[in-house]
Amino acid sequence: MTAIAVDLFSDTVTRPTAAMRRAMADAEVGDEQNREDPTVNRLQDMVAELLGKEAALFLPSGTMCNQVAFGVHCRAGDEILLHETAHPLLYESGGPAALVGAIMRPLPGARGMYTADQVRQAVRPAVHYMPPTRALSVEQTANIVGGVCWPLEQIEQVCAAGHAAGLMCHMDGARLMNAVVASGTSADRFARPFDSVWLDLTKGLGAPVGAVLAGSQAFIEQAWVFKQRLGGAMRQAGIIAAAGIYALQHHVNRLADDHDRARRLARGLAELPGIAVDADRVDTNIVIFDVRGTGITGEEFGHRTLERFGVRFSVLGPTLVRAVTHLDLPPDGVERALSAARAALRG
Ligand SMILES: *Cc1c(COP(=O)(O)O)cnc(C)c1O
Repeated sequence: MTAIAVDLFSDTVTRPTAAMRRAMADAEVGDEQNREDPTVNRLQDMVAELLGKEAALFLPSGTMCNQVAFGVHCRAGDEILLHETAHPLLYESGGPAALVGAIMRPLPGARGMYTADQVRQAVRPAVHYMPPTRALSVEQTANIVGGVCWPLEQIEQVCAAGHAAGLMCHMDGARLMNAVVASGTSADRFARPFDSVWLDLTKGLGAPVGAVLAGSQAFIEQAWVFKQRLGGAMRQAGIIAAAGIYALQHHVNRLADDHDRARRLARGLAELPGIAVDADRVDTNIVIFDVRGTGITGEEFGHRTLERFGVRFSVLGPTLVRAVTHLDLPPDGVERALSAARAALRG
């Protein structure tokens, strides 16, 4: 296998920096399951404050944050509204169905978003033969459609419609901090309309493990139950929580660099013959482009750039390719990716 020199596969490939590893090595620890790990407790307090919620819970992954939140909000047979490209629907091994017994109801909509009207129309009447519509989920940023940042106004309208219909409103905020940096809207403003919200420490923030789920005190007490049930309770987890604290202190503002690089990459790709990409609509650190007009498949494109240049993209469909920028890219990563793409198209 060729060595990967420029890894645009995902922002999950980021490795802890030397300074982050030092923070981990120095972390004060205790028994997390007994709520006695001071570093975990500190991380939870930091995130609760950041998101303007009463309490927060450290979990091993973002996927577990979604499962725990749905576990608290829903009973078997309940229905969750979410976009048809949402992570829990496509990439969580059917977790809400398998673990909670909930039905996921996919809603269509441009760029990974849906509207308040769609919510109002989707909520089922309270009749005994229909599944009770219990929750809605918003993905900020919407990943697989290109890191799209939901505008605050649309979030507020969707949640108002959800709450008016008695739904619990959940935010999958895997890349919430990208949305914060891109939009200038604060994290607590984005989080305010939601009953539960989480952010991932292992995407653009660059920590090795973990995500933090936040909500009311009562919600978090119930979340502890599901965390235990799913086997997510840990012991001296301060070792990894310290990386999360470091990431929140040092890796948030720099997300702007990732967004700049994603836009530069998109603009460069747009100039290549046969590649279709809407460079003006790159909100954050994810670029989705279509190689249909080049005469080669996404697979072939990805194979050529990787084998010959060590530039790895992620292939999403027959002609759809994704690139994600992040803190582990070399300084000339965008230029190298563009020259690899140019060469790949030449044959
Ligand atoms: C990555 C991701 C998740 C899952 O997070 P993990 O920490 O990888 O389990 C959930 N939702 C979205 C939108 C994601 O991008």
